Amino acid sequence: MIAQSSEFSRSLFAYAGRRAPAVIGLVLLAALLEGVGILLLVPFLELLTGPPLSGVTRVAGWVLQSLGLTTPRAQLVAGLGVFFVLLVLRGVVMRARDVRLASLSLGFVDHWRNQVFRALAGATWPALTALRHTEVEHTITNDVSRIAEGTDRLMRGSVALALVVIQLVVAFVLSPVLTSVVLAAMAVLTLPFTRLMRKAHLLGSRLTVAGREIHQVLGDFLTGLKLAKSHGSEAGYIERFDAKTEDVRRQLVEHTADQAGFRLVFQLIAGAAACAIILAGVFVFNSSAAILTVSLIILVRLSGPFMTLLQAIQSFANMMPAFASVRELKTRLERSSDVVTLPEAGGRSPAGPAAIELQGVCFRYAGEDSNALDDVSLSVAPGETVAVTGPSGSGKTTLADIIVGLQQPADGTVEIDGELLTGPVLERWQREIAYVPQDPFLFDQSIRDNLLWARPDAMAQDIWTALQMASADGFVRGLRDGLDTRVGNRGHQLSGGERQRICLARALLRQPRLLLLDEATNAVDLDLERQLLETLKPLSAQMTIIMITHRLSHVSDHVRCVEFRNGRII
Ligand code: ADP
Ligand code: MG
Repeated sequence: MIAQSSEFSRSLFAYAGRRAPAVIGLVLLAALLEGVGILLLVPFLELLTGPPLSGVTRVAGWVLQSLGLTTPRAQLVAGLGVFFVLLVLRGVVMRARDVRLASLSLGFVDHWRNQVFRALAGATWPALTALRHTEVEHTITNDVSRIAEGTDRLMRGSVALALVVIQLVVAFVLSPVLTSVVLAAMAVLTLPFTRLMRKAHLLGSRLTVAGREIHQVLGDFLTGLKLAKSHGSEAGYIERFDAKTEDVRRQLVEHTADQAGFRLVFQLIAGAAACAIILAGVFVFNSSAAILTVSLIILVRLSGPFMTLLQAIQSFANMMPAFASVRELKTRLERSSDVVTLPEAGGRSPAGPAAIELQGVCFRYAGEDSNALDDVSLSVAPGETVAVTGPSGSGKTTLADIIVGLQQPADGTVEIDGELLTGPVLERWQREIAYVPQDPFLFDQSIRDNLLWARPDAMAQDIWTALQMASADGFVRGLRDGLDTRVGNRGHQLSGGERQRICLARALLRQPRLLLLDEATNAVDLDLERQLLETLKPLSAQMTIIMITHRLSHVSDHVRCVEFRNGRII
């Protein structure tokens, strides 16, 4: 936990940068003004209660007299004036302090959230496929929220710490006895508090795990919705969900009980300390009534910030596992990231169809013991249409992922227009191609929005042309809301074939230099597929086309066929 905390503070201070000294200064100044205010209570009370006079009152009196204020009335008015000015000053400083602290803690949390998202966007494809989506969601929402809460508490804790320290100093000025009693009481509290803190940290870890599991059950259910509903397995999900939420609830209740117990101990000890101060003041030290009163006021005023401070430390301990989880995700993603600058969406190159050259490409998935691609060499001329066929599992999708640069070959080279596919060439390439993957994906938005995603500046005319080329214009016109029809989650309000044609239109709208279709028309009937191929024919002047398919029936004479078997071209 110590390592985690120092990591956290380093990160916080790095984020705060040059703002840190000002914020710390404001926190200290507000506490100082508070302390001076309390100290000034003594002369006031002693003016009312009479001698014996304490050192503070004598100093105050001496200052007032040297200013020429000799009568008690004049001194009272002057004292009240000072009080009032202090009050206003303290209010102004507190306001500035609170605004800065809030902006700091909110900004810090956003900074982390954005960093993780950036790392996510910049991570490589293999790293992303290895991630559990529900875990990422949980980390970037729940864990980050817990960091937000913990950081906020921490800020309040730092304010409280300043108040505690200043009031202890004031207490020491007034009476060292008071200070030693308070310090003794604090020391007694250390033991139960350490225990509470350790439990809070443990609870934090358990909450992180349990929260992830809740998210996972929900995610499993939502992604497998159709399966879950059609197989009548809702009850199983409900059971898992209930079990997890109950677990979390039990832990939280347990934690509340621990906290309440600690508060009880705290009150007992604070009460004992107050009694000790009064007894010592009256019987041993013969303190003035004013000193006793102010001592008790300090004790009461000290207990609030002190409790806040303890709670802050506890929240901090509780939040640390969430911070660790966020940091771990970020580091994991960044370690995998090889793309330094993210490709910008939208930009298109004016160049025509691309030439693609694969030489002796080998590729193996991590943890597998055979190559998914084995010494594959393939040369595709600009404007050529190539059909890649082969049985399921023969490596066709892997080949597509290599060509678009999602995966890097372990051996061999990939060249686009004679340039190796790495670094800036890869970045540019990914902006110039359109890939329709095997499991077509549509966002839960309108058909128009889904299409514009590929090219935000496309005009209505471009959209309809693309739809027409994908043989989708007819059915879109037939929809009640036309282009504005929402497609539902992952496009499930459309049929499989309709979904594929919208995805194809989206790819065409991009006017790519390479159109790569991975079984992108397998849900479309044969006649329509043949018709599609005919419409794609004249596009060879603009784009190279690679279509992966396991149905060879429709392939026409302008198409070159490449057959795959066990990761090799035969
Ligand atoms: P195809 O598209 O021809 O059906 P793939 O290229 O998807 O075949 O898969 C080729 C081989 O690689 C298969 O044996 C498959 O099991 C394996 N494979 C595919 N994706 C992964 C992955 N992410 N991790 C491990 N093995 C994989
Ligand atoms: Mg495949």
